[in-house]
Amino acid sequence: MARNAYGRKRTLVTGGAGFLGSHLIDRLIERGDEVLCVDNLFTGDKRNLDHLVGHPRFEFMRHDVCFPLFVEVDEIWNLACPASPVHYQHDPVQTTKTSVHGAINMLGLAKRLGVRIFQASTSEVYGDPHVHPQQEQYWGNVNPIGIRSCYDEGKRCAETLFFDYHRQHGVEIKVARIFNTYGPRMHPSDGRVVSNFIMQALRNEPITLYGEGKQTRSFCYVDDLIDGFLALMATEDDRPGPVNIGNPREFTIRQLAEKVIAMTGSSSTIVERPLPQDDPLQRKPDISLAKEWFGWEPNFALEQGLDKTIAYFKEIS
Ligand code: NAD
Ligand code: UDP
Ligand code: UDP
Repeated sequence: MARNAYGRKRTLVTGGAGFLGSHLIDRLIERGDEVLCVDNLFTGDKRNLDHLVGHPRFEFMRHDVCFPLFVEVDEIWNLACPASPVHYQHDPVQTTKTSVHGAINMLGLAKRLGVRIFQASTSEVYGDPHVHPQQEQYWGNVNPIGIRSCYDEGKRCAETLFFDYHRQHGVEIKVARIFNTYGPRMHPSDGRVVSNFIMQALRNEPITLYGEGKQTRSFCYVDDLIDGFLALMATEDDRPGPVNIGNPREFTIRQLAEKVIAMTGSSSTIVERPLPQDDPLQRKPDISLAKEWFGWEPNFALEQGLDKTIAYFKEIS
């Protein structure tokens, strides 16, 4: 595929106005790409890209990936999809459409152009896992008809489409299964646990612990995650993945609440709220494949990442 007339790589990022997409775009701009961000601003925020407005190598297009897209690019990153349970359950039909129709359209585009495409898949494909930590070979334990299914099954179907376009049409794919990630530019009212707890702590409001807080998650700082994305996409082999990208240090949600209260010096108390339906009990990535394949592992300890994230939320509130 020919690059633009100046020899620059033209890179498409769907969902680029969101939390992860905007960090990815910063890194792509830094490495010299010409970036086209496609986003319908369902959960994304143009303020995440404010610093790029007017940049000669950045362009924003408001578009819903459920509809076909005809552009000329050299590489595609497909991140478009709401990621917070509150958001993806707000319009569940649209969530499934975004994953499935979005994947079909972006794969159709990759096929026509003969370019490599990255898929932002998720640890949710493992559902409420019976295998711990989760390895890529595990097929998962997903409820097909619950309130999380629009996201979990949408992402599982997207993976199916990626692998079928790869086998059937020879499309070059790289599929990353992302585990809980946090950092600056998460939306303060996005409903995910790290942003909720920090915002509540900063306002000295009660910290809403769902259930008894015994469920676990493993939190990856955004800079580490984007390093992993770039390393995976740069692999010059035809291995499609899927590959886990996340931080294997596991914490209970109660531990997270206590850590956030301590780090913010907050007077917040912890209040228990009902555990949402199908909330996975435990989650921790096995990252041996990422280490062996492209030498990636995370560097940020939870305290370091929380420090930066708390500073960000203080700045914007
Ligand atoms: P986010 O909600 O901040 O970003 C998603 C972006 O996609 C938003 O800008 C939104 O407006 C856009 N979008 C949604 N539907 C769209 C559509 N139909 N057409 C065009 N744009 C659309 O979420 P995020 O945390 O940045 O997640 C990015 C991707 O990574 C998602 O695909 C998500 O499923 C995946 N992921 C994230 C995490 C995490 O912890 N952050 C974990 C696993 C997977
Ligand atoms: N598509 C797109 N941009 C392109 C090429 C295809 O959005 O540059 C969409 C197209 O509209 C189609 C989908 O991708 O709905 C799948 O394309 P594919 O070629 O696999 O299937 P077909 O067009 O034969 O249905
Ligand atoms: N959670 C919580 N309080 C909140 C938000 C979330 O206790 O205010 C819990 C939630 O029930 C889940 C975990 O924190 O067990 C992570 O939730 P999040 O929505 O961030 O992501 P998930 O991993 O569930 O997709």
